Amino acid sequence: MIMQDEREKIVEYCQKLITNGLTKGTGGNISIYNQKEKLMAISPSGIDYFKTKPEDVVVLDLDGKIVDGNRKPSSEIDMHRIFYVKRPGINSVVHAHSIYSSVLACLNWSIEPIHYLIGYSGKNVRCTKYCTFGTAELAYSAYEGMKDRNAVILGNHGLLAVGTDIAKAFDTLEEIEFCAEIYYKAKIAGKPVVLSDGDMDIVLDKFKSYGQKK
Ligand code: 13P
Ligand code: ZN
Repeated sequence: MIMQDEREKIVEYCQKLITNGLTKGTGGNISIYNQKEKLMAISPSGIDYFKTKPEDVVVLDLDGKIVDGNRKPSSEIDMHRIFYVKRPGINSVVHAHSIYSSVLACLNWSIEPIHYLIGYSGKNVRCTKYCTFGTAELAYSAYEGMKDRNAVILGNHGLLAVGTDIAKAFDTLEEIEFCAEIYYKAKIAGKPVVLSDGDMDIVLDKFKSYGQKK
């Protein structure tokens, strides 16, 4: 089986979407790009994450042509593909219908930098206008909304995050969902204090050396 490692990781992280409370049912999708092979592996459409096997994960080229796999790929292939085509260095895309991001999506609220963890996305998290799921229009709008950022709220839909690898993309999705929850709750409680551009510059700089040395 080609791209076995990527396919196994997709199964593992799709299950983590459920166990970490980040999506419901078969909502969301995950892909990994292999720079060397110039191929992407993506979760199949509408299959229970605990019934999905590595061979159910579909492998495609960047034109969207299926190279391996018998399943129908995620309906959001264009929303994943566009990042591999247009943003070199992005090797994984994670999408979920996490609760608070979806609440903000339905309010059409962007997230201001009220907590330093917004730095996982950049200086804020934008919210795009509504587009039908599985369309090229949604893919383009997600790409535009995520310019210079690693996450975007998809209007009336959910959350999307990208990263240099699947662990990073997943972490970003999880941290931004946390920020969506505190932003919503802080807005309900009063007037959250927004961090300055300078504060966020410092955070973004410190994030470059955060964690263990590679
Ligand atoms: P798929 O099951 O086709 O990946 O669709 C789920 C989804 O979240 C669509 O936006
Ligand atoms: Zn979705």
